[in-house]
Amino acid sequence: MKPFITIKAIRDGLTNKKFSAVDVHSFFTKRIAAHNQKLNAIIETHEQQPAQTTGPLAGIPFLRKDNISQNGQTTSAGSNILRNYRAPYNATIIENLQKAGAYSIGRTNMDEFGMGSTGEFSAYGPAKNPWNLSKSPGGSSSGSAAAVAAGLVPFALGTETGGSIRMPSSFCNLVGMYPTYGHNSRYGVIAFASSNDQVGAFTKTVYDNALVMSALGGVDTHDATTVQQPPKDYTLGLDGKLPEGLRVGILKDALTAEGMNDEVRATFEQSLREMEKLGAKLVHVDLPSWKYGIAIYFIIARAEAASNLSRFDGSLYGVRAQDIKNLKEMNELTRQQGFGIEIKRRILVGNFVLSAGHRDAFYNQACKVRALIKAEFDELFKSIDVLMCPTTPSLPFGLGETTSDPIAVYLSDYFILPNNMIGTPALQVPAGFSKTGLPIGVQFLGPRLSESLLYKVGHAFEEHTGHHLKNPQGYE
Ligand code: GLN
Repeated sequence: MKPFITIKAIRDGLTNKKFSAVDVHSFFTKRIAAHNQKLNAIIETHEQQPAQTTGPLAGIPFLRKDNISQNGQTTSAGSNILRNYRAPYNATIIENLQKAGAYSIGRTNMDEFGMGSTGEFSAYGPAKNPWNLSKSPGGSSSGSAAAVAAGLVPFALGTETGGSIRMPSSFCNLVGMYPTYGHNSRYGVIAFASSNDQVGAFTKTVYDNALVMSALGGVDTHDATTVQQPPKDYTLGLDGKLPEGLRVGILKDALTAEGMNDEVRATFEQSLREMEKLGAKLVHVDLPSWKYGIAIYFIIARAEAASNLSRFDGSLYGVRAQDIKNLKEMNELTRQQGFGIEIKRRILVGNFVLSAGHRDAFYNQACKVRALIKAEFDELFKSIDVLMCPTTPSLPFGLGETTSDPIAVYLSDYFILPNNMIGTPALQVPAGFSKTGLPIGVQFLGPRLSESLLYKVGHAFEEHTGHHLKNPQGYE
């Protein structure tokens, strides 16, 4: 088995009896032992062996982000407040993957409760980017991205509320999708902002991503927001070709957005030329409400987070402050000691925008803008099939570079947040590298439940450009 082997290649090897599921297990366990210490990508590994020999993912090990519950295992969402919390049941998506034959071998590092873009808000210290250890792998699913990029596991689960799958996959030369809201169950996933949260996978290729996404989805009676559609096999139709006459929308300011890095711009221009070579018809479009994505995410995600996090008060879950005199002190000290700085910032904003007298000015207003973005998206997709834009305007951040300027980091989600706010899917695919060897990504966005189309388009782009074939050095 070669490092950076894909899920597809492992499946073929197992089918042809080139190696066994036990070989696969020990191959990845050894890679984790050799490389995780410098990356800090994996918080804990589990003693688990392949159990199942049938199913589309039979014998494939994976890592779960630390906010996805696994029965009997610690699930702490990267936070001190849950450092000792053991999940009493499996998240539905873990069950679904197990049914497909995959098994979880550990949990990955992340920004506390999914709040951050660099992994530096983790209670376990930051994960590092295998492409350059002085850089962040992106966040909040920092460890999942770093682990897959270094080939420590064939795939890892992430969650995305506002970019936490697409941004780290862009920073680490990986494929990642934010699916349609409701495609995957949120049952057993520790909530950040419930109206955006979705689970997805980090993989090396579009095919692998489609394979895992096919296993993740499905109606769940424990999550009333799951979409009523039978699971689909998204690998069907991945033939390296674009659909005939595909109309690709390009946002008016896709090349001129604030803070746009020159190399990201050049890479995006090159990607557009590649799409034209593949037969796509580029259409310049405008989505006037796009620019409000960051602002309304700032309000809505914090409002929901403040509400969701109120359950962590020392009474039910996780850590409880010691030497407390009464209930009020228990609540206050537990939260004071248990939550990190970014969480506290967000709870403050969240409670403010929901408070009497401010709710109309902020929260209700943001919800109206959300409806406006949705209406404009619906209109837009009458004249285009997919929308294409850079994933982030910047190159991977240096570790320690951004902690003093949270606003600059929030702004880097410019291309990411609008579709999160309306729950429509987007697929990030590797698009090239900076002169210094740092990955740059591009994303394809579509209307609700357009996963099949996005995978097909992303697969054609990937086959044609081949950026996914490059791997970081030092992990051979
Ligand atoms: N950068 C986003 C934030 O800090 C990440 C959110 C997410 O997708 N979990 O809110």
